[in-house]
Amino acid sequence: MSVSLRDEIQKEVDKRRTFAIISHPDAGKTTLTEKLLLFGGAIREAGSVKARKASRHATSDWMEIEKQRGISVTSSVMQFDYNGHRVNILDTPGHQDFSEDTYRTLTAADSAVMLIDVAKGVEPQTIKLFQVCSKRGIPIFTFINKLDREGQSPFDLMEEIERVLGIRSVPMNWPIGMGRDLCGVYDRMKNQVELFNGKDHSTIEVRKVEDYNDPIIREMAGDYMTDQLIADLELLDVAGDQFDFEKVSRGELTPVFFGSAVNNFGVQTFLENFLQLAPKPTSRESSVGTIEPTNEKFTGYVFKIQANMNPAHRDRIAFLRICSGRFDRGMSVKHVRAGKDIKLSQPQQFLAQDRDIVESAYPGDIIGLFDPGIFRIGDSLAQGGSLEFNELPTFSPEIFAKVTVKNALKHKQYQKGIDQLTEEGTIQVFRTTSFEETILGVVGQLQFEVFEYRMRAEYGVEIQLHRQTYQFARWIVDDKIDPSKFRINSTLVKDKKDNYVVLFENEYAMRTAMEKNPTAKFLETAP
Ligand code: GDP
Repeated sequence: MSVSLRDEIQKEVDKRRTFAIISHPDAGKTTLTEKLLLFGGAIREAGSVKARKASRHATSDWMEIEKQRGISVTSSVMQFDYNGHRVNILDTPGHQDFSEDTYRTLTAADSAVMLIDVAKGVEPQTIKLFQVCSKRGIPIFTFINKLDREGQSPFDLMEEIERVLGIRSVPMNWPIGMGRDLCGVYDRMKNQVELFNGKDHSTIEVRKVEDYNDPIIREMAGDYMTDQLIADLELLDVAGDQFDFEKVSRGELTPVFFGSAVNNFGVQTFLENFLQLAPKPTSRESSVGTIEPTNEKFTGYVFKIQANMNPAHRDRIAFLRICSGRFDRGMSVKHVRAGKDIKLSQPQQFLAQDRDIVESAYPGDIIGLFDPGIFRIGDSLAQGGSLEFNELPTFSPEIFAKVTVKNALKHKQYQKGIDQLTEEGTIQVFRTTSFEETILGVVGQLQFEVFEYRMRAEYGVEIQLHRQTYQFARWIVDDKIDPSKFRINSTLVKDKKDNYVVLFENEYAMRTAMEKNPTAKFLETAP
């Protein structure tokens, strides 16, 4: 008997886990990713992800900036198999200078792993990324890294997570000692201890125990650390949160794992627990209602466009998150916004090693589509019908600059560049109402540098950016808009679609404007 398409899709969906790792630079994301890929056999040697990070600089010379600053600007996707699961890791740029791209990549994930440095705790970029995930209500798992170093106490970290991020946590394991004295972790779910042997923290021994009072622990870890462990765990049992799967699923409780990525300690148990608890690809909201992944019709949306991955061809790759159905190479689908049928013939998958051509893919998978300039961020593709996904919010820009062209004769190319680059969705463009000046708004400073570079490299236009002191943008909706009301530490501009937007220099100016215009609505993003 042949398996129905729906059953086949269900089976593939059940296997899949698509997630992003969110962290502040240096917390160990590259290291952790690499260890995960090693478990999946997607790479053979430690160091490959790092090496790839470096070699990518050499090949993508349009991203001169990446090379100069040693950062990865663009995010990619890695896939591997482990224990019958197919895992997709979405890589979000780890640098302070991130962009809307980073935020949007998170919409393609069904869960997130929040990586925290044991010594540094919750850092600024972690907070921003956490908030995006939290707004979507996706489950967030926490991995506290670098346990081999001296750091904050686990209780302090849990308290900090709650205070700063507003989420309660439940430790899945607990360190036995820390820093130089770290000798293992106690797995609270499985009642086992994982122990380091030797000073170099290299060998790992796993022993089943009755509970945390088991004499085996004392034998292995000594009196001092065992007493501490017992005291901590007794306290947790009494005063800590119970593990609650429903709360985890709703993103109200984060399971916490302690480990050390570079020593490969606690990584495998983290991966196994994570795969068990993390959600499979979830349904998505669209213009025609909820789309279940098992829906037989193929659908997906573009969450990111990466330009010029190969500078020789000026190619662009549109990254598509598959939401339902089965993707088959060469299939025809409707490009909903363009109202046209297109053939998906050159899809690529992004493995750790190389780009491969994909023959088929399922919900939760990310495929890269060769883009001759027909896609925009947010575009939906659907088989046999029209629908649009509501996945992609735009984010309120926080950094602004006035832009001018150095050579007035280049005005036409300049306009073309602005139109095309802002279409990619990483930069927002505003015009002042009085002098018709152009102001650009971004989420991260890096976007300005990329923009400047690309205007020069791709359009031959030298531009100058003049940083403005604005910090907030609010779209205003009102029956009657009076520009004279927005003069003090603020300015009234229009976006691409002629919506009114006010740029504010500080929070005080924004609050004052809100009080003075009680009938107006101030929105963080375009209505
Ligand atoms: P990313 O910027 O988040 O991708 O961080 P990396 O993975 O590049 O790691 C930053 C630094 O922290 C590197 O020097 C790593 O070797 C180091 N590191 C990563 N994990 C650990 C760990 O568990 N313990 C210690 N001591 N160092 C680590």
